[in-house]
Amino acid sequence: MMQKLSKPRAIVVGAGILGLAYARSLSLRGYVVDVFERSEKASGSSIRNFGMVWPIGQPNGKFLNRAMKSREIWIELCKSAKIWHKQTGSLQLLSNELEYEMGKEFMERESTHRPKLQLLDKQQTKAIFPLAHKNNRGAIFSGTEVIVEAREAIRLIPAYLEDQHGVKFHFNTPVVEIANGFICTAKKHRFEADIIILCSGYETNLLYPEVYESAPITISHLNMLRSHRLSHTIPAICAGLSFLHYGSYDRLPSSAIYKKWATDNYPKQVYHGIHLLISQNYNNQLTIGDSHDYGMHHDPFQKDDVDQLILDYMNDVMEIPNLQISQRWTGQYLKMQNGQSEWFEEIASGVYLANGPGGAGMTLGFGMAEDTISQMIG
Ligand SMILES: Cc1cc2nc3c(=O)[nH]c(=O)nc-3n(C[C@H](O)[C@H](O)[C@H](O)COP(=O)(O)OP(=O)(O)OC[C@H]3O[C@@H](n4cnc5c(N)ncnc54)[C@H](O)[C@@H]3O)c2cc1C
Repeated sequence: MMQKLSKPRAIVVGAGILGLAYARSLSLRGYVVDVFERSEKASGSSIRNFGMVWPIGQPNGKFLNRAMKSREIWIELCKSAKIWHKQTGSLQLLSNELEYEMGKEFMERESTHRPKLQLLDKQQTKAIFPLAHKNNRGAIFSGTEVIVEAREAIRLIPAYLEDQHGVKFHFNTPVVEIANGFICTAKKHRFEADIIILCSGYETNLLYPEVYESAPITISHLNMLRSHRLSHTIPAICAGLSFLHYGSYDRLPSSAIYKKWATDNYPKQVYHGIHLLISQNYNNQLTIGDSHDYGMHHDPFQKDDVDQLILDYMNDVMEIPNLQISQRWTGQYLKMQNGQSEWFEEIASGVYLANGPGGAGMTLGFGMAEDTISQMIG
């Protein structure tokens, strides 16, 4: 009689978006997957974000393709798991002639490979977004962006992966040691696997600190706000300062002139890496941000002045009467300093580190897991 071969086993550490994405990809390839999450519920970067699946920010080529692949997986997964999501597209508000010129240059370079991209004039912008500022000059509309409510989606996906893919989640279970073929939990339980994937996010001193210490990384610290419910729905928004933030806008003919204009006109916003992003959830609340302060240590104290700089810029590009803020929080993510948006490395035999999508983990995570796992095991 033929002996029945047992299925290969995988362990994933961390139940943020990367941990969930790797658990999904491995289970689809026949692995028995266990996910270990330190907290009772995932509470890292993945639940603190805008829930923006944002291909418009990714440069053409590998990362735009990856973002589009993630988008497809998000939509399919949200439909199957009955998780709220909205294919809003995105509207980048342009406030003056220079920003409009950047918009034209972006269209010229990018419209062949980005579906549903349009440059709108002032009237067309107002028609889609009546709250645009009276001085608005136009907008770039892109049809590919999707919004999820991150704090809900990230906490619902585990139940879906358990039901549909047999992935086992161990919450409240910090992993304190990883070695070739096994992990140990804080309660000294040992679990074995053929592959271990470390998706522990921005906390670099917990496991393999020596790997992080020598890596080209920094930690970005962000301020975020949430409004009360609005009485109407709005599209997903970004604005002119986003030209400085995303790789997709790099090296446009007017980029250097725009950088100088932005630094002269918004010196404090540029200093704190502020650009405007707004997503709206199913309760019509707005998630508003964000700022980017960099360094390996960040104090836990919320800075009101940084919040105010975000709101000041928002009020320059749109007019939302009586906006009330109901929540404020900070978030952090690990960012590569070598220009990469991916860090996937075998750090010990059979132990892989998956990190590095920076401010785009929701946008790139599912695609990154699919690409790296298929390269590794087919
Ligand atoms: C404020 C903010 C806004 C953002 N907005 C967006 C956006 O709209 N769109 C987008 O694409 N990206 C966005 N990002 C980026 C995105 O959120 C991150 O790239 C992504 O969440 C990183 O996911 P992760 O799984 O690597 O980390 P995390 O979500 O931080 O998950 C790591 C998990 O590992 C667990 N863990 C750590 N150590 C251990 C251990 N020893 N044992 C067990 N568990 C452990 C932690 O508890 C945590 O749950 C934003 C980020 C922030 C902070």
